[in-house]
Amino acid sequence: MRIIIIEDEKNLANIIKKGLQEEGYSVDAAYDGEEGLYMAENIPADVIILDIMLPKMDGLQILKTMRRNNIKTPVLFLTAKDAVLDKIKGLDTGADDYLTKPFEFGELLARLRVLLRRVGEIKSPIITIEDLEINTASHAVKRGEKEITLSSREYAILEYLAYNKDRVVTRTEITEHIYDESFDLDSNIVDVYINYLRNKIDKGFKKKLIHTIRGEGYILKAGNGL
Ligand code: CA
Repeated sequence: MRIIIIEDEKNLANIIKKGLQEEGYSVDAAYDGEEGLYMAENIPADVIILDIMLPKMDGLQILKTMRRNNIKTPVLFLTAKDAVLDKIKGLDTGADDYLTKPFEFGELLARLRVLLRRVGEIKSPIITIEDLEINTASHAVKRGEKEITLSSREYAILEYLAYNKDRVVTRTEITEHIYDESFDLDSNIVDVYINYLRNKIDKGFKKKLIHTIRGEGYILKAGNGL
């Protein structure tokens, strides 16, 4: 999953970026409001972390502009400790959640997972498809009783498919949500990783869960075919 962080305190932005990358997210960071709005409107992110006080354009203005331009990416506001008014304004402008600085990184992760789940109307941090269990908090993956060890890239692709389960996702969409702007996109690499995933998740099981939709992409779902 891909996250944009818009935060002008570079140290904080970079700490968050690094922490999220360690969790397997791809992350793009913007350090002022204009750059942030540009990213929000041009990068297919799954969540945006948005500071309110920003140079060039403040967070509320960014959010207003995004929503006016019909960009529905979930937004988590970062607010100063006692800026109650900012929280209210933020939520009224169309923010999905907020977090008060300073915050615990674990809480940020948990709140991000809630927002990531919302798009696919997924209720639990453990996403299940038939007997496949993907724990999005711990990254543990099980099929039946079998624990499955995945590389971070394999996990990221499986997680993206899981958040979008029962929906066909294209190769381009997968690459755009798994890699950040520093990566040279090559959608063939998706096929390679899907093969690795099939070997680990479907091989030896009667019911296949990863399906290829010819000319379109992939879908993670129970049952065979569409
Ligand atoms: Ca700030």
